[in-house]
Amino acid sequence: MARGKYVACTKCKRILLRKELIQEGNKSKCPFCGNDKFASNYSNIVLILNPQKSQVARLLQKEEYGLFALTLET
Ligand SMILES: [Zn+2]
Repeated sequence: MARGKYVACTKCKRILLRKELIQEGNKSKCPFCGNDKFASNYSNIVLILNPQKSQVARLLQKEEYGLFALTLET
């Protein structure tokens, strides 16, 4: 995964492509939770494929499919 192209939302911890972000004025917003703060350095990436059956999803309290970063460096 090329760093720089992706950012992690500091609220829902979802990893997003910069171009996926909603542009509002000079701010970028997370299309999932509306947060406008992102971290470009992150680690411990988890992919949740099947939230209903995933132990990780339960642990993270995520109920959706997606790519998440557990550790954000801001
Ligand atoms: Zn978010």
